Amino acid sequence: MNPKRSSWSLEMGTVASIPIRVHVTFLVLLVWLAFGTEAPSPMREAGYVVLVFTCVLIHELSHALMAKRFGIQTKEITLYPFGGIASIMAQPTPKGELFISIVGPLSNLIIAAALYAWTDIGNISGQDISKLTLVDRLFITNIALAVFNLMPALPMDGGRVARAVLALLNVKNPTRIAARLSQALCLAMGIAALAFEQPMLLIIAFIIFFGAVQEYVRAEAKIVAVAFTVRDAMIPRARLETFTHGTTVSKALRTALTSLQPLYPVLHGDKVIGIIHRDDILEHAATQPDEYLGSITLQEVPSVDVESPLSTAFTMLEETGTPVLIVTENGEFIGLLVHDRLSDFLLLQGLRDKRSKDDDAEWSTPL
Ligand SMILES: [Zn+2]
Repeated sequence: MNPKRSSWSLEMGTVASIPIRVHVTFLVLLVWLAFGTEAPSPMREAGYVVLVFTCVLIHELSHALMAKRFGIQTKEITLYPFGGIASIMAQPTPKGELFISIVGPLSNLIIAAALYAWTDIGNISGQDISKLTLVDRLFITNIALAVFNLMPALPMDGGRVARAVLALLNVKNPTRIAARLSQALCLAMGIAALAFEQPMLLIIAFIIFFGAVQEYVRAEAKIVAVAFTVRDAMIPRARLETFTHGTTVSKALRTALTSLQPLYPVLHGDKVIGIIHRDDILEHAATQPDEYLGSITLQEVPSVDVESPLSTAFTMLEETGTPVLIVTENGEFIGLLVHDRLSDFLLLQGLRDKRSKDDDAEWSTPL
């Protein structure tokens, strides 16, 4: 999985060297607010939208900065209509997760508290939101952001707080319980969305539902991974197409066009000097067909020993964001560990595990 090509989001810039991405559904909401409502002043709507955007960004940056205090870097921040997600690059301890998660909604409450002095609370209730002053609207929005994000559903902050608290209380499988809770909540949200004809709420319920599934799968994979080593899941060198640094792009193209392999190790002698994506070969073929692969900027890839536990390799893949690891034995290149394939491998092993457990249950019934 190449992060450049993933997800329904666009990169808008960087803050504190963290890439800021915006999910398309957020843009849909912005467009709807600015043009879809019968607001008296579109300019004021636009101003409001930009200010909401800023509040969500502050929320996410607070997560990123708290994560930094716990020694965890943030890969990127993605903004959704209901808030955002700061993708931190490691799983924090339960205490870390509690602090990192809670600080986001807290920042919205602090903004609301700061606005309180200029807010006419008596005026807010019963009023059409588009007729309120900008400050009143921002006040409500920040309260709503805090409440929404505190909803106990993964991958929302409230869901993470719930998981962290379960873990701190030494409850077994906290992610499994938190994910089940999330799915139940999403179902309730979906039904409410249909009953009250709120399409946006339905979309949000869907996004959270799949977010919770993703969190669950990742947590399960890590549990399964402990039982295996890198050797069990790697693709051996004999089954891989490789290139030498002296291969020209046009020659590599011939292989790339007839093989299904998405990326290729480039060797110098017996050492891997980097990997090249199939798409990059196609791209270079148009402009520099006679160039040697060795002189193209290749993606550097970390390596892992073949006897390492699979869980260690899994964490390495997640933390570095690389799609692949070079597998070595006594320092020699013997294969590749591909992130996408590894997820499939672990999912399959997990299912097999579950099935054999179910079988055990059947056989253990006393006669
Ligand atoms: Zn948050």
